Amino acid sequence: MTIAENLADIQETIKTACDKSGRKHEDVKIVAVTKYVSVDTAKAAVAAGIHHIGENRLEGAVKKWEALNGQATFHFIGTLQSRKVKEIIDKYDYFHSLDRKSLAKEFQKRCPEQKKVRCFVQVNVSGEESKAGLSPDGTIDFIQSLEQYPSIEVVGLMTMAPYEEDPEATRPVFRRLRELRDRVIDLNLKHAPCRELSMGMSNDFHIAVEEGATIVRIGSLLVGKS
Ligand SMILES: *Cc1c(COP(=O)(O)O)cnc(C)c1O
Repeated sequence: MTIAENLADIQETIKTACDKSGRKHEDVKIVAVTKYVSVDTAKAAVAAGIHHIGENRLEGAVKKWEALNGQATFHFIGTLQSRKVKEIIDKYDYFHSLDRKSLAKEFQKRCPEQKKVRCFVQVNVSGEESKAGLSPDGTIDFIQSLEQYPSIEVVGLMTMAPYEEDPEATRPVFRRLRELRDRVIDLNLKHAPCRELSMGMSNDFHIAVEEGATIVRIGSLLVGKS
């Protein structure tokens, strides 16, 4: 299967999930996660109609940006060490893994004047020890505390669900993130409009879309694994 065929299938699945849940498919963006693949494959993805590229490590992230700068929107989706922020902050459009004060502080320090760092706060809904992110209980306090960093805009929440043989089992994780997002919206925080939900990967994005995902992050199913 070509990337264009994979993309068409994924778009069809998103449409079905939107129909099922009374949503508009235009409200769901696809981030192609290119962390497993070469720069050439990332270029092929953009040629096939992909507008958003996601990377989780600094080296790959910079390489893909250098090759495709200006042709896509760039999403950093992995854990970011604070000391690496300066190497990526002016290149990437969105950061999906804000989960600690020290990182927020570094974003504030390195953000060019008059600009905003658009972030998702990462939440570890499932509580797995291997996963990054804040506990759901600590998320609201954390978001409120970000007001002291005027360069940071919290555009949404992000989570990674545990891998399940039966993707249906991930539904409560996605639902919980949506409920948390709605609570943040209700707070009407100027620095945290928090409209977006970054959730759903190759195995479970259809469930995530049914539960309100506005951004799905798809790697293997879309661009392959090597
Ligand atoms: C790798 C990765 C993905 C995509 O994974 P697939 O299962 O290949 O779709 C999505 N989000 C994050 C944060 C990732 O690290």
